[in-house]
Amino acid sequence: MKEELVTLYSIKEATEKIGVARSTLLYYEKLGLIKPERHPENRYRLYSEAAINRLIILRQIQKAGLSLKECHRFMEGKLNPALIRQRMQDLEGQIEDLRQAGAVLRALLNRTDEETPSLKPTDNSLKPWHMAFEKQSAEAHTIWLMQQGFSEKETIHIRWVSRDMENHNDYMENFLAVFSQMKRQGPGSETSTLRSFNQIKADPPIQEILDVGCGKGATSLLLAKSTKAQVTALDNHQPFLDHLDSESKRQGLERQITTVNGSMTALPFEKEHFDLIWSEGAAYIMGFEKALADWKPYLKNGGHLFISEAVWAKAQRSAECEAFWEREYPAITDLETRIKQTEEAGYRVIDSFLLPLNDWLTFYDDMEAQLKMAITQYGPHPAFEDMQQEMDLFRNYGEEYSYGCLLLKKI
Ligand code: SAH
Repeated sequence: MKEELVTLYSIKEATEKIGVARSTLLYYEKLGLIKPERHPENRYRLYSEAAINRLIILRQIQKAGLSLKECHRFMEGKLNPALIRQRMQDLEGQIEDLRQAGAVLRALLNRTDEETPSLKPTDNSLKPWHMAFEKQSAEAHTIWLMQQGFSEKETIHIRWVSRDMENHNDYMENFLAVFSQMKRQGPGSETSTLRSFNQIKADPPIQEILDVGCGKGATSLLLAKSTKAQVTALDNHQPFLDHLDSESKRQGLERQITTVNGSMTALPFEKEHFDLIWSEGAAYIMGFEKALADWKPYLKNGGHLFISEAVWAKAQRSAECEAFWEREYPAITDLETRIKQTEEAGYRVIDSFLLPLNDWLTFYDDMEAQLKMAITQYGPHPAFEDMQQEMDLFRNYGEEYSYGCLLLKKI
């Protein structure tokens, strides 16, 4: 019989060919993945070409994310395809995470390194990353954004509007192209505002009103017209305040209305200064309960607070609606819960109602008209798509949620 010539390699040669450490090779042996032959005289380990190739293949499979044990089973043809499929899915998830990590780094570089040439635009939105961060801890997300050098205003806009620090400016520009043109910046109406306002029994009459997050000031103007009070209109977006200033001049109300560019999170006023604090569709920005607590000291004893806040209007809700609000405002709850919170915060409820459907319809009709014009002018944009989605949701499921309107008295 002709003797077959088999090349055998020493352990040193084998480690070099496979690209592993000696200890790793010995470990494979311990696991039973390889069984080297022994030199007949000195008993040194000897590795055949076939054994080495087997290990090279095994390492390639291992790189694809299978455990050594699974690799071994695979080589023996015993691995379940479902498991491989699962690994592929895991891998896709990891790739997505890495892409996001890359996008975060790119965004950080763009902020800190002005020398960075315009980096490759990313098709990877940071939205999911911001949203997961926000969901895990809104506070940590806020702190982190401010540490990156974003102002409080930008931080709020990233958290609530653009949700993407990388494409933030572009998103906001387009968003504001629509939002700034709208008559109101949140759903509501003169009738609804007056419904609550007219229930305030104040003697002497109200002298000092604060409108928090006034937007372009539809409500500030109405309250000024309806009273002899001084109305302080606070917002952190100067163009809205400029609009209100010129509008109050036009209506001869400039002596009654003072605009203040400031933050609702740190009101720049004397304590116990106001008879009435009014805030439509804005308290959510800092959180409903925080607004109740933080604004209270600025009210005189017996003063009133009005807040409108997104709430569930139905106990049974569509999956689409749940998913939308889970993304947009996960803190949403029902009116009863909000009422309880106002009582715990030391207020008495004078009036509570859900904003009528018609107020929402008017708001979205306005949005739709402005949106159409913006799309004609600027072409499609993710900011426009998000607004369209919000309108569509309302038109399909608008009876499932609303604004809870609460008129409260400080006790
Ligand atoms: N009350 C208005 C606007 C509601 S939209 C209406 O019903 O039409 C919310 C408003 O809050 C926007 O105008 C926005 O610019 C403002 N805002 C956002 N963050 C703010 C902050 N930290 N302090 C004050 N206003 C803020």
